[in-house]
Amino acid sequence: MSAARYGLIEAGGTKFVLGVADEARTIFARERIPTTTPAETLGAAVEWFAAQGAAYAAFGIASFGPLDLDPASPGYGCVRATPKPHWSGASLIDPFLERFGVPVAIDTDVNGAALSEALWGAGAGLGSVLYLTIGTGIGGGFCSDGQLLRGLSHPEMGHIRMPRHPEDLDFAGTCPFHGDCLEGLACGPAVIARWGKSLSELPEGHPGKRIIAWYIGRALATFQTVMEPARIVLGGGVTGTEGLLDLIRAEALAANGGYTVGKIDELIVPPGLGDNAGLLGALALALRSIP
Ligand code: ZN
Repeated sequence: MSAARYGLIEAGGTKFVLGVADEARTIFARERIPTTTPAETLGAAVEWFAAQGAAYAAFGIASFGPLDLDPASPGYGCVRATPKPHWSGASLIDPFLERFGVPVAIDTDVNGAALSEALWGAGAGLGSVLYLTIGTGIGGGFCSDGQLLRGLSHPEMGHIRMPRHPEDLDFAGTCPFHGDCLEGLACGPAVIARWGKSLSELPEGHPGKRIIAWYIGRALATFQTVMEPARIVLGGGVTGTEGLLDLIRAEALAANGGYTVGKIDELIVPPGLGDNAGLLGALALALRSIP
């Protein structure tokens, strides 16, 4: 008899990545489909999983947000109000529940990554991990002893208010809600809005990297004092910029005024899971749904 299989969905704003895996993290099949409308994309996903012919024990969905994650809510598993056309109110879990009749776990892609990095990646064995992604948007998830931090909904760490860098006072920020919150100042589109290029495309000596590192370093110092994670894992396209990680470490250290516990190079690190990070996040969620 074959081992149990898990259906994995990494739901992104432009594409859905699908996978079939076992609990040992072997991925047997994968597919990517464009994100169009809920009916079309979720319908295609359900058909693909059915065509794999696997006996699924559970599904895990690691999705773009915002999501309704309150199990008592009638909208549990739905996308909350979003500027993304067609997806506000769409249930991500119902098509899989109806077709396969097995548990369907869902959380944000950020929380999925936080959980998988804590279980198997850069935070394995450490007990507490903060995962922060800085790309098209900014989001954070905190995992402590296997539990994800949650209040009424998932954390929205990208939207904290920030002090302003003295050389960056004129930029209004890109967040539609807050203007110059962390995301509005330091996400990829905020970089392009100011300087017309991504950080990695800016010429040597351009102040952009320094300014973005200043913001991220200060945000990390704040998160660190609130949560005291054993490790802070930085993911996302912006943080992949060459040399940025070291600048962020220096700024975080400076912002905390020597109050930091441990060594900064060991505290703030890149992700440990490579290209499979998204699907492994979905697997971590699916495995948790099995009693
Ligand atoms: Zn904001």
